[in-house]
Amino acid sequence: GCSPNGRRRDVLASSLLIGWNDAMANRLPMPASHSDQLAAVTLEARNQLTSIQGYVEMVEEELAGTSPQVLADLASIRAAGDRLTELVASLEEEVANARNLASVDPLTGIANRRAFFARAESLFATDEAACLILLDVDKFKHINDHYGHIVGDEVLRAVVERFQRAVRDRDMLARLAGDEFVLLLPGADYDVAMAVASRLRQKVTREPVHTSVGLVPVTVSMGVAERNDETPKINDLVERADIAMYNAKRTGRNRVA
Ligand code: GH3
Ligand code: MG
Repeated sequence: GCSPNGRRRDVLASSLLIGWNDAMANRLPMPASHSDQLAAVTLEARNQLTSIQGYVEMVEEELAGTSPQVLADLASIRAAGDRLTELVASLEEEVANARNLASVDPLTGIANRRAFFARAESLFATDEAACLILLDVDKFKHINDHYGHIVGDEVLRAVVERFQRAVRDRDMLARLAGDEFVLLLPGADYDVAMAVASRLRQKVTREPVHTSVGLVPVTVSMGVAERNDETPKINDLVERADIAMYNAKRTGRNRVA
């Protein structure tokens, strides 16, 4: 037979598993877009699972050579643990996908508007210097109208690739909307940001973009703004850069202002 102690532990381990299952069942039906909540539940599940598995191993060791019934019970607890391991792994994958969808622009693969503001807000919580470059493709409507939307998309991807090759790891490039992008430069002063913007503009303009219908010439206009006392919030900095960008458009496009 088995010791009363062993049997009690056995029951304890089962109820741990069942209790955890109930907790999961109560919390699981949540929209995947709440990726942080999902991630928290998943992490908790992963942690509990690890402790249950450790517990089962310990009990197994203690009960080695005792009743076949106890060993069978433990085997079924272990099997339940294995199924839960699979469930947790698929939840973790779901979390990763949800996070990705929530922060990455699907067309270009760079950060989206939401991710940009999240990152910029955390930078604004510090007193680190920063500059912002707003970039907008010139006459992009014409590119769409003339070559079609698909080619327009190709142009956006090509422009982003050129931007990406010209920025540092610390800089954050994001797509704000349509043909409008933003580059956040932590630690950069205004002169550095102007130099970066000029370099980017040249990278885009130097040679036409290769598309499925051939070469398409592209230019971009940029507005640069530096974080200072007059830009307490990220939105203030974006607004400043937007005004500068408007000036670049107004004074002839394909330029930095
Ligand atoms: P400007 O030089 O003043 O910027 O002129 P513009 O024609 O580029 O004007 P605007 O920036 O307002 O035009 C953006 C256009 O981008 C409008 C919209 O139809 C198009 N657009 C927005 N999102 C996408 C997209 O994902 N793919 C494509 N192909 N076009 C898009
Ligand atoms: Mg435009």
